[in-house]
Amino acid sequence: MTLPPMAQQAWGHLPHIRQVGRYEYCSACPQCGESEHVGPGKPDRFRIFTDNSPRAWCRRCGYFAFADAVVGTPPSAQKIAEMERERARLSEAEARRIQQRILKLQSEAYWRGWHDAMDERHRAAWRDEGIPDSLQDMHELGYAENKEFWSDSGEFKTDALTIPYFTNGRQLANVQYKLRTPPRPGDKYRFTSGLPAPLYLTDDVPVAGKCLLVEGAKKAIITHGHMFDRYDCVVGLPGKHPSRACLDSLKDCNPIFYAADPDAVQHGEAAGVAEYMTREHNVEVRIAHLVAKPDDLFTQHKMTAPRFERLMSTARRWS
Ligand SMILES: [Zn+2]
Repeated sequence: MTLPPMAQQAWGHLPHIRQVGRYEYCSACPQCGESEHVGPGKPDRFRIFTDNSPRAWCRRCGYFAFADAVVGTPPSAQKIAEMERERARLSEAEARRIQQRILKLQSEAYWRGWHDAMDERHRAAWRDEGIPDSLQDMHELGYAENKEFWSDSGEFKTDALTIPYFTNGRQLANVQYKLRTPPRPGDKYRFTSGLPAPLYLTDDVPVAGKCLLVEGAKKAIITHGHMFDRYDCVVGLPGKHPSRACLDSLKDCNPIFYAADPDAVQHGEAAGVAEYMTREHNVEVRIAHLVAKPDDLFTQHKMTAPRFERLMSTARRWS
């Protein structure tokens, strides 16, 4: 993807550039790269604006520059002051935008409609995922037909399973989509774009006490269905590389029994989560070494709740 000339000279080298509006592009950031990037999508934190005064801003680390200052001579004091004002303006606009998007999401009925209007075919699609009707209703899971999404090659439409994410207090925080026909096999999950990816809470209870942690909403829903009365809370991480803010929301849990996917144990992502929780919040994390993903243990391997609890209680304390 090529940017308009001035922006191309300044930021054309960055990875994951894609166009998101007539005069707006996004990519990884020249300063913070894509560290702590959450989820399977590409990083979109760095916004490049290519209208009359090409400039770019990172909503994660705050980096800001005008394209001509990057390409040409070092900026004057006046230009630096102008940058500071523009950085502050963009950052306020971003905070307002997120707040408005969340309020809009909460006020709109469409995501409820995706649950309420589910027919037999839609419910069967969820049952194929291992989630029975009772849990579809409890978690307000839904089905969106022919919904628009973006990929590298532009806009496309697909049916999607919808998963509302709630705060403690049952306010909607985000909606996640599992695409029925993803553009690529590994690219099947999307969050509502521009909103932070929160923890998936299975119950309207405080995220505190003896916690069972898994990866993803679907695994949280299935393990919660079997284990809800044996833990104070059952929660799902939104991906293998959760943000600090997301992990910080686990700070009142102790201990955390982490039923990590086998590949997350093998590749060290699980240890990364445990290390962060121990170092930053002094929380004890026990990582289970499971032979299969926790939801598959229940749906395919005839796991029972007492056996699962025993398995978790023998999990090793990370240190
Ligand atoms: Zn950045």
